[in-house]
Amino acid sequence: MKPSIAIIGAGLAGLTLARELSEHADITLFEKARGLGGRMSTRRREQHRWDHGAQFFTARSRAFKTLLRPFIDSGAVVEWQPNITTLNPEQAPYKRPWFEPHYVAAPGMNGLLKAISPGLNIALQTRVETLEQHQGKWQLFDDKHEPLGEFDWVISSAPLPQTEELMPFEASTWAGFGMLPCYALMLKVDDHDLPVWDAAQVNDSPLRWIAFNHRLPGRNRELGAVVAHSTANWAAAHLEDDQEQVTHILTEHFCALTGVAPEAVQEAQLHRWRYALATEVENDPLGHEPQGYVLDSERKLAACGDWCLGGRVEAAFTSAHRLAVQLKQQGL
Ligand SMILES: Cc1cc2nc3c(=O)[nH]c(=O)nc-3n(C[C@H](O)[C@H](O)[C@H](O)COP(=O)(O)OP(=O)(O)OC[C@H]3O[C@@H](n4cnc5c(N)ncnc54)[C@H](O)[C@@H]3O)c2cc1C
Repeated sequence: MKPSIAIIGAGLAGLTLARELSEHADITLFEKARGLGGRMSTRRREQHRWDHGAQFFTARSRAFKTLLRPFIDSGAVVEWQPNITTLNPEQAPYKRPWFEPHYVAAPGMNGLLKAISPGLNIALQTRVETLEQHQGKWQLFDDKHEPLGEFDWVISSAPLPQTEELMPFEASTWAGFGMLPCYALMLKVDDHDLPVWDAAQVNDSPLRWIAFNHRLPGRNRELGAVVAHSTANWAAAHLEDDQEQVTHILTEHFCALTGVAPEAVQEAQLHRWRYALATEVENDPLGHEPQGYVLDSERKLAACGDWCLGGRVEAAFTSAHRLAVQLKQQGL
């Protein structure tokens, strides 16, 4: 009989792991949100869409390129070649070239996750709250202490602080990893009220990134949708502030930086990412690269996710891929 594995989180790391282990184990994914995606989610309101987490990604490793190839062929993943600028409150904007391919999923960033998920057993709107070991098996419970089943293995792909809270590892396991917050401001603005560039890297401002999301490949260019991300420092300093006030301040900065008239902003929403971007993970004292996952084979517990390798979409994939390779090598 195949071993059973519970995977916590249906972002790119959780889905990659489930996909790669699906022939070797009976897998159930638990996801607390209503949909797939995690930090590659797409927010919808009526016809408008905002990719309020990751906006694009790079693909450097052969394994990630191999995963993407069929989805590039099918159009679920598209290379993005934006007209990108750099903004600074004190300087004239200047154009900023990109030197390697950047990709987006279409019609929203969660498109890649939808494309890799068919056939997987996913329980949505199910938050894993606790795990208990009982006669060699792990029992999982939700936030109402309802049982979610018994499993041989439990693997968390949740962001670091959520994994840390849930998984019974020594506190020292998490040394060297970290995550920072970010606010995502989402605006509805007519396209003709916006500048000609598609996205901007921002310096010396509470905002660090602005994108005219509706101009990403595969979106409806008529439905002006702006995504602006704050810096981690600004988000950390204002994390518990009144959210309407935060929305107002960030919208003012957006208007000042872009020259868009405040009256042109038809609607503003905010998302507070408490755990947005992972901090760099250092090589060990001997200069070895980080392993990329946490594994306790004796207790059959593991964790993976972007934070194991210093953040970003490709890191989430690589972490899960490396863990899957290791588990297959050791026969789980
Ligand atoms: C604002 C922002 C901008 C970004 N920009 C970029 C970018 O431009 N390029 C780039 O490459 N990367 C970017 N990133 C980072 C990128 O989004 C992540 O590296 C990647 O999506 C992480 O994937 P993951 O699977 O490791 O984690 P997640 O996507 O966070 O998936 C973890 C999942 O676990 C679920 N979960 C957590 N706890 C529980 C629980 N107890 N029970 C059940 N489910 C649970 C969560 O709901 C979530 O869906 C950005 C992130 C943010 C937030």
